[in-house]
Amino acid sequence: MGHDALPAYEVYALRYAAHDRPRRDNFIAGSDPHDAAMPMDYFVWAIRDGSAVWLVDTGFNADMAQRRARTFLRCPIRSLAGLGVSAADIRDVIVTHLHYDHAGNLDLLPTARIHIQEREVHYATGCQMCRPLFRAAFAVEDVVEVVKGVYADRVSFCQGDTRIAPGIEVSLVGGHTNGLQVVRVHTQRGWVVLASDASHYYENMDAQMPYPIVFHVGDMVAGWDKVRALADSPQHVVPGHDPDVLRRYPTPPGLPAGLQGEVVSLHEPPSR
Ligand SMILES: [Zn+2]
Ligand SMILES: [Zn+2]
Repeated sequence: MGHDALPAYEVYALRYAAHDRPRRDNFIAGSDPHDAAMPMDYFVWAIRDGSAVWLVDTGFNADMAQRRARTFLRCPIRSLAGLGVSAADIRDVIVTHLHYDHAGNLDLLPTARIHIQEREVHYATGCQMCRPLFRAAFAVEDVVEVVKGVYADRVSFCQGDTRIAPGIEVSLVGGHTNGLQVVRVHTQRGWVVLASDASHYYENMDAQMPYPIVFHVGDMVAGWDKVRALADSPQHVVPGHDPDVLRRYPTPPGLPAGLQGEVVSLHEPPSR
């Protein structure tokens, strides 16, 4: 099947939380000596073709924000109403990895199919979770929701690189967690890659400085090359937590006032 036959999806990033933090928290080593601020944004991503919607990651809720001292801006699931998407419209959820900021709120999507790497489920339920170092960014209730989903026949296990639908593909990257996957989406401007936590900020990937939460540094570094190879250009790679995403991409028309500046269209070219 050639490119012409693939759907050209709309892809949106929606910010739902934020965190003020210093630069040194965002790089494994070699951060500059100045204690500059480098805030973090939290996103979910929606892929749409007409009435069909795929949600990429599910964010966290207000309770989790309080427990983790994050600034909660809005429920990421209910806020999709601003794009004309209700929770009932979401039949498929692609979970990039099971960290608390990516895999909460599954209780709000009780019938959606969950697409996740088998390796991530093994990681989140296996011996590495005996170590506080590796389990710190997981919330057990999110992992339990996925395990319940397995028993309810609503989990699709991805093994490596997998096609979810024509023009929507996931690729196993690992690194940040053992089973992190990135999402490649065909749009009107070509193949866009939602890198999620393969690169939290543009700078992690561009300066080749890993984010400090990392299971396997070698896989993370190799993941940057893989992400670039999957995208049509470096301008087609969207990092997982960078506030610059909201500055680079245009706002879709028709947003309610409360979402102005909080949702951007990734299927449009960035301004820089
Ligand atoms: Zn993560
Ligand atoms: Zn994250």
